[in-house]
Parts: sequence; C-alpha cells; structure tokens
Amino acid sequence: MLANTADVVATRINGLGQDVRHDWTRSEAQALYDAPFNDLLFRAHVVHRQNFDPNKVQKSRLLSIKTGGCAEDCGYCSQSAHHDVKLKASKLMEVERVLDEARKAKESGATRYCMGAAWRSPKARDMDTVVAMVEGVKALGMETCMTLGMLSDDDVVKLRDAGLDYYNHNIDTSERYYSQVIKTRTFQDRLDTLARVREAGMKVCCGGIVGMGEEDGDRVDMMVTLANLEEHPESVPINMLIPIGGTPLQNVEKLDPIDFVRTIALARIMMPKSFVRLSAGRTDMTDEMQALCFFAGANSIFVGETLLTADNPGEDADTSLFNRLGIEPLELAPAPDVGAAHEDEHPCRTATSTR
Ligand code: SF4
Repeated sequence: MLANTADVVATRINGLGQDVRHDWTRSEAQALYDAPFNDLLFRAHVVHRQNFDPNKVQKSRLLSIKTGGCAEDCGYCSQSAHHDVKLKASKLMEVERVLDEARKAKESGATRYCMGAAWRSPKARDMDTVVAMVEGVKALGMETCMTLGMLSDDDVVKLRDAGLDYYNHNIDTSERYYSQVIKTRTFQDRLDTLARVREAGMKVCCGGIVGMGEEDGDRVDMMVTLANLEEHPESVPINMLIPIGGTPLQNVEKLDPIDFVRTIALARIMMPKSFVRLSAGRTDMTDEMQALCFFAGANSIFVGETLLTADNPGEDADTSLFNRLGIEPLELAPAPDVGAAHEDEHPCRTATSTR
C-alpha cells in the first residue's frame, strides 16, 4: 500500500498556494507546523515554486539612520535606553550621508534601501529630514523602506506623499508572549500602526523574531495573526534572536534550527505571495541551514556587514553561498508608471531592533 502522507500531500498539490487565505485557524497552522519535517518542507516548496522563481533571492540593504537611546524596552534590543548595553547612541543622520550610503548599496547590487531609526515614534521636527531621505533614495531608482516606530495619521500621509514604498513594523511574537518581551507599548499599538500604513496605501513589511524563549505555539500564533490580516504583509521578515549581553534576553536558550526552518515553511504556506525574509541571525546559521530556509520558501535577505547594530555575513559570504546554490539576486522590475506601486516587496528591519 503506497498511500502515505507524502502521497496524500502529492494528490493535493494542484491548487496549493494559489489561494491567499485570511481565515487560518490556530489548529490548522499548528498541524502544519507539527507535520513530519519532509512533508512540511515539500508542501512549502511546492507553494514557493507556484508563486516565485525558487532560484532568485532579493537583496536589501539596511542602514541605521539614528542609533540607540530608544525609549522603548524591547527585551531583545541593544538600542533600548532601558538596557545596560554599551552602544554609542547617535543623532539622526544628515540626508546627504544617507544618500551616499544608498548610492554605494545600489552599486553593490541592492535594490531596496531600508532606513531604521531607534524611536518610539518620529518627532514632528524630524519628519522633514526623513521625508528628504525617502525622496532622495527614490530618485536613485531604489525602493524605499523605513522603520521609525509608531506612526500617527499625519506621519503616514507625509511618508506616503514622499513616495515611501514600504513601512516596517514587526509584531515580534504572539499576542500571548508579547508582554514578556515588551512592556512600553502593546501588541494592539503595533496593529494600529500597521492599519494606518495600509490605510494610507503603503506596503507593509511585518514579521517577528523567533528564539526569544517562546513556545512553538507562539510562533504558530504569530503566523496566524500575520496571515489573517486583511492583506498579507508584502514582506515578512523572520529574525532569529541574536542574544545581546545586557539585554533581558541575553541568556535565552538557543532555538533548534529545525524549528526555525519550520517557521519559515509555515510563513511560506500561509502567506504564499509574500516575500519571506531571512533577516537577523544569519551569522549563527550554517550555510546548510540557510539553504534549507531558501528551499522552505525564504526569498529575501539583508546584505552587508551589519544590520543596524548586529553582525551580518557580508557580501563575499553571501555571493559564495548564492553561487554554490545556483541562486541569483532578484532584480528590481522597472515601475510601470511613475508613481505606480511596485509589485514586489521590500526590506526591513531586524532582530536586534525590530519595530
Ligand atoms: S526594537 Fe526599536 S522600538 Fe524597540 S527598543 Fe529597539 S529601537 Fe526601540
């Protein structure tokens, strides 16, 4: 008798991944997460192939435009003023410096430029500078993403009018586990900012961090929240915690890499048309683990030596890995019309300081 789980999965391939659903139940998602690893990966990879070229991975570059001294208390973050981390805080960068860095990123092949500021929310006096950064990076022909914390209605209008493509604001974890990690703003605060960004017509980059001591069910619940948003985030960054000395999560137990890959696969299946970004924590991943993540549906990475304040593999290591895997960087498709929305994703924010 040949009927086994793989046969059952195979008979259901037709149509898999074509549906973008927003009605996932927790038990369905948990069953996927708990499936035999090969079945889960097989299904995720089928969904991936039906929606993307499996041998193309998008590259983004992330710049910290204002570092440290943040009023929030995110338990994983080196930039929080609440934690005893030796980090040199800096003021908001000048526009020209940001544009110089963006030019360099473009020359090295990045198509998206993400700018992150360690703020609870932007101050009115900073908005003109931030808007000039967006306009300047757009003029270079790159896609733009920002992560600035919580946004007001005025902020979203200014950013949209400047041409911002994506806004990153992560939910970080499940609603249940959230208050174990962050106390200075709520899970609902995050959802409210995401709703404002959507309402204004910008694309959303939203994911979370795993390996913060949460349970399997929290990773599943985070995916259910993201997949049941009215529209799926166009970009879903999945960060693996980099424990940082001086933060409350410095001694948290390391996540089993297999569970990380399961989380990537779950994101791919539940949000079939979203870019799933392998974000912070890649320096702690073997090449083989990253290869499994790409197979499971990850199709975006951050490039460069650093991610805000955290280490990143660097261009040479990524180029070598891409070559060994036969993966090519995804080029940015030309925008059909001036001012028209791009059809693909964006970049965003990472583990030591997601927003
Ligand atoms: S993650 Fe962002 S909001 Fe939280 S402390 Fe770090 S910089 Fe501030």
